[in-house]
Amino acid sequence: MRPEYAGYAPAPRGGEREPGVEEVEGAYDGRVLRVPLGPRRGGVERVRVVLTGTPTDGLAIGTTARGRPAAFVDGWPQRLRHWLPAVDHPGDKAAITWTITAPDTWQVVANGVNTGRVAAPGGRTTWTWRETRPIPTYVMVFGATPMTVSRHPPLLRGPDTIPVEVWSYAEDSAFADSVPFRRVTTILETLQRIIGPFPYDRLAHVQAATRFGGMENAGVIFYDEDGWAAHRMGEGVVRHESAHQWFGDAVTPADWPHLWLSEGFASYFDLVAGEALGDTGLVARGMRRAATSYRRSDAVDRPVVDTAAGDPMRLLNANSYQKGALVLHMLRAIVGDSAFFRGVRAYYAAHRDSSVTSDALRRAMERSAGTDLGWFFDQWRWRPGYPQLDVAVQVDSAQRRVELTVRQTQLPAWGRFRLPAVPVQLLRGGQVVSTRTIALDGRGGEQRVTLQVPRDQLPELVLVDPAGTLLLTATVRGP
Ligand SMILES: [Zn+2]
Repeated sequence: MRPEYAGYAPAPRGGEREPGVEEVEGAYDGRVLRVPLGPRRGGVERVRVVLTGTPTDGLAIGTTARGRPAAFVDGWPQRLRHWLPAVDHPGDKAAITWTITAPDTWQVVANGVNTGRVAAPGGRTTWTWRETRPIPTYVMVFGATPMTVSRHPPLLRGPDTIPVEVWSYAEDSAFADSVPFRRVTTILETLQRIIGPFPYDRLAHVQAATRFGGMENAGVIFYDEDGWAAHRMGEGVVRHESAHQWFGDAVTPADWPHLWLSEGFASYFDLVAGEALGDTGLVARGMRRAATSYRRSDAVDRPVVDTAAGDPMRLLNANSYQKGALVLHMLRAIVGDSAFFRGVRAYYAAHRDSSVTSDALRRAMERSAGTDLGWFFDQWRWRPGYPQLDVAVQVDSAQRRVELTVRQTQLPAWGRFRLPAVPVQLLRGGQVVSTRTIALDGRGGEQRVTLQVPRDQLPELVLVDPAGTLLLTATVRGP
């Protein structure tokens, strides 16, 4: 809220006065609201803040893509403060109850469950929505406009069943139900099976005004109304925002530099869920794309946990998304599928409804894998860049040996990387004759690796990381 908005006003005078309620004037400078409380009496102080006016940001009041009046909250990263008094920081989560009065012909949707819908004077209805679990302010939202609501029947019935709804402008509802949200309950159930119980009591997918393609508001995901109205929307964004409910909303980064715990996880579990739903090879294809776009980005000289970035908007980059997802994929390759998913489930179970730094993930993974992972987290979290390998291959036919001399040629400022499992393929006559794994210790100027092979596997060609799913480049010279 800009200073000229200056919407602070004391509670209306002359109305009904509550006993024990003291009215005071606050001071608002466009960022911080100061309320004088007088001498502390001990115990809990309850403060009611009354703001009037039209917010300049964080609550869009306007016209939808289908030409109807509407109001939608769009708070990421710290825009709720323009109209809602709060400690507007991901490290300070809270429960929230919304009471919204809107015209009778509108629907109102918000975080949590609907606990009231009563007639109000002047052809209006008052809706109450309540989320009792603590959520970060940037995912506290409501939306209000005429909408069509469809309920997607769950596959499983029982105590774990989460009601899933799609809230759409009338013109776009058939498209939504049959294309991007066709598998919406299976996506949710798949993520529950992989990660743990869904963190909230219900999930609504909403066509909305948001500056993002999708916004993972807790229990009530908002999607860009224009892409939805143009019927250009696919399932990927639905899986990404759904995964955020666990990672970002329930387990929240304690501060902005740890944003990869939200965006890296959502990017990765979008692919994991898609593959679990039958799209074979989706994770590998996604990792190859992520590695390419990370290497081409202007973020390679910054670490993933970037404490110098300042503005959270600058962290919406290839480090938080693509490299974050690749770090999880490489961690999975090192500890193995079963320790990785056990670690993810333990991390979620231990830190649900709280805010964490990347160390919480490291500890959960170390416990599930039974090994120290400090080196892994240090090199991928705090250091910029990625390994660039120069591999010279020599074949000794008499000794049936393949000798690889590996140098790491990346910028010295990026350091050397420890890579405990780099896949190497040996090819003869265009066919793969052997697949090996080599370990690079990241020490010294160059490292020699010798592979003993049968005569019929002496290679004519050697490929390093043939699937391209590790974050590295390799130039192979010889044989
Ligand atoms: Zn995201």
